[in-house]
Amino acid sequence: MLTFKYRIYPTKKQALHLNRQMQLAKELYNLLLEKSKEHYKETGRTFSQFDMNRHILQLKKERPKLKELHSQVAQNISKRISDAYKAFFGRIKEKKNGRKINAGFPRPKKFVRSLTFPQSGYKFRNERRLYISGIGNVPIVLHRLLKGKVKNCTIKLYPSGKWYAGFSEEILKTEFESNHKGEVGIDVGLANFATLSDGEKVESPKFLRELEERLKFIHRRVSRKKKGSSRRRKARFRLAKKYEKVENQRSDFLHKLSKKHVDSYSRIAVEELNVKNMVRNHQLAKSIMDASWSAYRKMLHYKAWSAGCEVIDVAPADTTKICSKCGNRKDMPMSERTYRCSFCGHAEDRDINAAKNILTRAMDGLSKSHARGDMSSVSLETRTQGISLKRELYGVET
Ligand SMILES: [Zn+2]
Repeated sequence: MLTFKYRIYPTKKQALHLNRQMQLAKELYNLLLEKSKEHYKETGRTFSQFDMNRHILQLKKERPKLKELHSQVAQNISKRISDAYKAFFGRIKEKKNGRKINAGFPRPKKFVRSLTFPQSGYKFRNERRLYISGIGNVPIVLHRLLKGKVKNCTIKLYPSGKWYAGFSEEILKTEFESNHKGEVGIDVGLANFATLSDGEKVESPKFLRELEERLKFIHRRVSRKKKGSSRRRKARFRLAKKYEKVENQRSDFLHKLSKKHVDSYSRIAVEELNVKNMVRNHQLAKSIMDASWSAYRKMLHYKAWSAGCEVIDVAPADTTKICSKCGNRKDMPMSERTYRCSFCGHAEDRDINAAKNILTRAMDGLSKSHARGDMSSVSLETRTQGISLKRELYGVET
């Protein structure tokens, strides 16, 4: 399932109606949350999504204005609460397993800024008009035509005041067929966003590198203004706009890069993400990069399908420490930019050497699983060889 978002341009009147729907959605959210808590206190059982949907009917009788809320949107509110509970119970579980996090019980909302129509309530009139039930025909800019089956539509108001419509699309998996374009290992890093085993380097774009500084600067400008003042409000608005702009630039960069890579190679090996490291890191610049690498990997995986390319995740351990030529292992402090092997004399750029090791690890895992030819043991074997089960989850078989 892929999601695409498009800018929409509701008229003033339409925007008012949409805001009213969001206001009602917020009220319903808080009422249902309250009811679910009561229900739990009384019965010791969770209030299911089904229970909530039934309760909505009663709420509509008690509070006639809730009838104005689109029924599809209302049902989606039940789903949101049920998802919030699921996430909450997930966090409790992680806490029990020793992770230091706040479980955070679902809380009432001050705002609801998006409306989701799960099945119906929206329709494309033509390429420039989206019909939303109760709102009318809203101008839309489709920069890319929807190809797959559209599963739902979410209307969202961003803090900058821009409106977007997001669609989840179900894209059918095309049979994996190798495009015979060769293999590559990719190492990701701070200075170079990506280093390829064939020597190519992709520099981290300027806006990503400077993002931290820029955000800090604007944050300072906001915090210098008096709380509650209109100057502060305006500064916050500018901050929100900046965030959105950078976010769009970032996503554009990642989409183009991942597309280029799946089109250029038939196999791409990347390191599995070290989630533990990500969570522990509180440095803003690093967390932005982590999020970008993780988004890039996800894009590689889902774009690989239609490009006839296979993406293989390998275990990240020690790829910088090993000599890509002879397999010798040595320590590599961050300051050393060149790998110099004390055993075979091989000297190579640190990141290219790592990218080559990533590729080797992936190919080793593949040849072992081929040799065994038994799928049940393959999944176990590949796991220990560092190729994650993700490959099977993504439906690509070797
Ligand atoms: Zn060596």
